Amino acid sequence: MTLVCVPLVARTVEEMVADAAAAAAAGSDLVEIRLDFIQGFRPREHLPQLLRGCPLPVLVTYRPTWEGGQYEGDETTRFDTLRLAMELGVDYVDIELKVADKFMSFISGNKPEKCKLIVSSHNYEYTPSCEELANLVARIQAVGADIVKVATAAKDIVDVSRMFQVMVHCQVPMIGLVMSERGLMSRVLAPKFGGYLTFGILNSAKTSAPGQPTVEELLDVYNIRCIGPDTKVLGLIANPVKQSKSPILHNKCLQYVGYNAVYLPLLGDNLASFLETYSSPDFSGFSCSLPFKVDAVQCCNEHDPVAKSIGAINTIVRRPDGKLVGYNTDYIGAISAIEDGIGGPGSKDAVISPLAGRLIVVVGAGGAGKAIAYGAKEKGARVVVANRTYEKAVSLANAIGGQALRLADLETFRPEDGMILANATSLGMQPNIDGTPIPKKALSFYDVVFDAVYAPKVTRLLREAEECGVKVVSGVEMFIRQAMGQFEHFTGGIEGVMFF
Ligand code: NAP
Repeated sequence: MTLVCVPLVARTVEEMVADAAAAAAAGSDLVEIRLDFIQGFRPREHLPQLLRGCPLPVLVTYRPTWEGGQYEGDETTRFDTLRLAMELGVDYVDIELKVADKFMSFISGNKPEKCKLIVSSHNYEYTPSCEELANLVARIQAVGADIVKVATAAKDIVDVSRMFQVMVHCQVPMIGLVMSERGLMSRVLAPKFGGYLTFGILNSAKTSAPGQPTVEELLDVYNIRCIGPDTKVLGLIANPVKQSKSPILHNKCLQYVGYNAVYLPLLGDNLASFLETYSSPDFSGFSCSLPFKVDAVQCCNEHDPVAKSIGAINTIVRRPDGKLVGYNTDYIGAISAIEDGIGGPGSKDAVISPLAGRLIVVVGAGGAGKAIAYGAKEKGARVVVANRTYEKAVSLANAIGGQALRLADLETFRPEDGMILANATSLGMQPNIDGTPIPKKALSFYDVVFDAVYAPKVTRLLREAEECGVKVVSGVEMFIRQAMGQFEHFTGGIEGVMFF
């Protein structure tokens, strides 16, 4: 089992003891006491105090500045302190590879049987090749480490795969972590690749290295205790990605139905190289968001026909034969939300769509705009496309046999009553929540107004439409429904998943 360790980085002994209690309450297995963070640290007085106050097994680290820590003093005092920690009965002591030989001589190779020696190496710049990593691990083993620790930095998410390859072949217990947001996968998937421990922080102000998730995220969002070698990896590949609510939603659903998979936020730079690198069957499904929805079409071997017409894919599934199949659940999510908005619950199941014959004005000609325009056309609606860049509106309108408008035309466009408006621009989205694609006075031309923007839930457009007495449909409805479609593709459709 991979242990969950909370690094303690408080400036005082009292605060550190309080944080150790918080770590225990949060479900951590052990704490790492970072002695180098304590101001005015006095080993003989403070170490016993810390150990007495700590309710969990303890790893002691006294990291010098030359290895990324805060300790600036001499090595004899540092070694003496680590030896004292061993004598006082700590469970683990961390020593840097660069001085591990010297430390072994200092303690004459003697350490209490209970205490395990972690020999560590940190590279804050990049992740070396597999061969270099394997050599590093061999050097760490050769100095007598009980546990090997290698921490590197991810410049690209694909760098993490090299750490995984080395971890699965390591003959001794190993902690292999790749720092930065692009390396998050290494921290969450440690149990899948045999990692000895992974770090989870108490909160974002208490980090000891870049890219650490909170202990709560590890345990409650990613459900790390249930991750094992057979766990399938799913995730959202996007850039940026950390604002997404998809990991919370998908992981809750996976846990609910007991499907052995974890869903991660994957900060990517190049979709094709990501899919090529993580090509094992266990990396079985991905959501794609900005800026990869169009690239995804090229990356997939097979496509759902509507997704291909839209020219954007938001869901990729790796079939057992290794082939990548692309789908677009955005259009299903948006259209079913609009259908329900028009006709009340259950209307989307009617044989004839409530969109059939209706005039829908789609504002926006990007990924979401295309998805809604194609989806509405499929359902028999008459589609008008308005967009800031008029040429894109024309091109989309031509592709689906509709009419194109400039944004400014929306103020007076009223060929008939009872139209439907769908905003598929990012106007109104956080942080620019004052944006709206259409003047308030023109909203009364519509029966139903849908906004694809889901953060905030009630946008300015929806608020003003409601004030005009128009029926509104929130982007949250689309978000949940597109996720539901993805979940079905990822899991192959599990019976009983009717809780959305
Ligand atoms: P996209 O492909 O980048 O397209 C962005 C669209 O917004 C383009 O039509 C663009 O017009 C327009 N736009 C951007 N800034 C504008 C401005 N200042 N004034 C007028 N128009 C502007 O993005 P997307 O994937 O289609 O996403 C669009 C929105 O839908 C986003 O807010 C996204 O969060 C939301 N969305 C929601 C869901 C959901 O599940 N609810 C799913 C997908 C997307 P130009 O062509 O002139 O640049």
